[in-house]
Amino acid sequence: MRVAVFALGGTISVARRGESDRLTGAEIAAAVPGLEELGVELDVRDVHAVPSGSLTFAQLLDLVGDASRAVDEGAAGIVVTQGTDTLEETAYLADLVWPHDAPFVLTGAMRQAAMAGADGPANVLSAVRVAASREARGLGALVAFNDEVHAARWVRKSHSTSTAAFVSPNTGPAGHVVEGRVRVLAVPPRRGVLPARYDTARLDATRVALHCVTLDDDGALLSGVADTCRGLVVAGFGVGHVPARLAPVLGALAERMPVVLTSRTGSGSVLRHTYTAPGSETDLRERGLIDGGLLDPYKARVLLRLLLAADADRETVAKAFAEHG
Ligand code: GLU
Repeated sequence: MRVAVFALGGTISVARRGESDRLTGAEIAAAVPGLEELGVELDVRDVHAVPSGSLTFAQLLDLVGDASRAVDEGAAGIVVTQGTDTLEETAYLADLVWPHDAPFVLTGAMRQAAMAGADGPANVLSAVRVAASREARGLGALVAFNDEVHAARWVRKSHSTSTAAFVSPNTGPAGHVVEGRVRVLAVPPRRGVLPARYDTARLDATRVALHCVTLDDDGALLSGVADTCRGLVVAGFGVGHVPARLAPVLGALAERMPVVLTSRTGSGSVLRHTYTAPGSETDLRERGLIDGGLLDPYKARVLLRLLLAADADRETVAKAFAEHG
């Protein structure tokens, strides 16, 4: 049994504070107690050695392409090690385009390798176990962290330093790794797979803005968005509300580009037809905003950018959000 491991940098590749040389994928794997005993052959590749905030959609789509080839050549699963800051976005991006039953498992670390209680080794061990497991097949992209398994669709980074930083607020973990066994408790529904290949220039030019609505927001920050972006995700209050005076600003933008409504709360869905005041979800939908459903703003932005990079029109975007949201 073979698992392909792709190393992208992040805290898991940082040996100690102040050190700029990064650990290679092989060095990360070599420091994992019990990994060899699993009897899983690892095909380890160093792809990028960067903080995860510097990763790009194009790099991640290339990585998915390489991982896909590794599966075609016989790998049972994929492990990606990367920084944790953008893991919830990269995992969802991979999930949207991953066409295989083979698990695509992302992990990382909150503590640098030389720190007391470094969590990288345990996370890698779990990730390899999940990637090689029968139980995780067909579940798309997963995040293995802190002995938990999270569906890419639901996972959030919820803490800046805790080793239990990853949570799935809407569902709880999809599974656990217990005494080395992968226990799947909740099977995440698989949705339609998006194309994995994009014209790089078009992807780069497809900017999607994310605007978090705040108290007394007058919309001034949105001026110019229609000239520089092809789409907008709005992280509204609660169930998808904005100040009354922002509603016409968003309505005008929705005439020029897809504007997706999500909630800034961190869990739960936006509503569709419960409130009717100016700036309510009903008002915004009537003004042309697209219902983001249960997708959080960051994940909605990933989906919208991929759709627009493939030249989806408003109707196609709305249909995709009805399916994925
Ligand atoms: N937490 C950062 C990340 O997500 C780590 C920064 C670094 O690797 O230098 O990548």
